[in-house]
Amino acid sequence: MMFKNGNCPCCGKEEWRPFFQGAIRNGAYGSAIKNALVLCCSDCGLIRMDERFCEPPESYINTVYRDSLNQSNSPSGFYTKHDEIQLERLNMFQVNKLRGARVVDIGCAAGSFLDYISGLADSCVAIEPALSYHESLKNKKFELYESLDSAIEKSIQPVTHAFCFSVIEHVKNPLEFLQQIYSLMQEKAQLIISTPNLNDFMIDLSLEYKSFFFRKAHRWYFNNDSIMKLAERAGFKNIEVKCYHRFGISNMINWMQYSEPYKNDKSNLGFDTKFIDIVWQKNLEQSYRGDYLYITMEKYK
Ligand SMILES: [Zn+2]
Repeated sequence: MMFKNGNCPCCGKEEWRPFFQGAIRNGAYGSAIKNALVLCCSDCGLIRMDERFCEPPESYINTVYRDSLNQSNSPSGFYTKHDEIQLERLNMFQVNKLRGARVVDIGCAAGSFLDYISGLADSCVAIEPALSYHESLKNKKFELYESLDSAIEKSIQPVTHAFCFSVIEHVKNPLEFLQQIYSLMQEKAQLIISTPNLNDFMIDLSLEYKSFFFRKAHRWYFNNDSIMKLAERAGFKNIEVKCYHRFGISNMINWMQYSEPYKNDKSNLGFDTKFIDIVWQKNLEQSYRGDYLYITMEKYK
């Protein structure tokens, strides 16, 4: 049975077939939509949430999205949860190359990432729809726009480095989104994005994890092939996909034992797994089966 759900951003076709039907996550773990439908492009295999089960775009402007995750809407609440995650991101590129750069962070929330790099960069552009972070971003003297549309309308000075972490899976049209970022970049500028990995090996291992992985807020589910195709279609060159796995082996064992997310970072095996974890993570990453993807691309006309 085929479904209509708009054109596929990777190949342009408009026929979708069912990929998974069942419970998906509705915000924080514990809240579920019981019978959602995940679709697969009949031509290229890109995966998307059926539009009927997706988060509406206004949830990212008001407080609905962060509320659904039981997360704070205040800048200080964001820093507590997200300052540490930025260290992983800073390791994904040569941060020293940002000296003198003009940087944009699309979907920067309260601006944790920009806080780390603003000492090296010449100027920082913050693009963020959530109104609750705007005052703090302005106070930090970042050039602030509520959307890519408004930055493009104002014809801002082109950037040398663009960053967009964990956003592309949320947007309505990811092809148009990448094309808009492209238009803000100067020639030879670099874009780095990140997104969860559809080829995360845990999805094949546990039905409960599958229901945890697919969620209302994520409209799109990319693997290394589909994200590469999308970036090429948007006009980018020199595209490189790096896989990253954020969890130790205890996380997997916990899912197998208890069918739920692991709550602390200590081994549940009764011994220290730090050496196993290194091998475990590297093995998953080199076969693109880790849980996250970082994609680097460049603008050349
Ligand atoms: Zn397709």
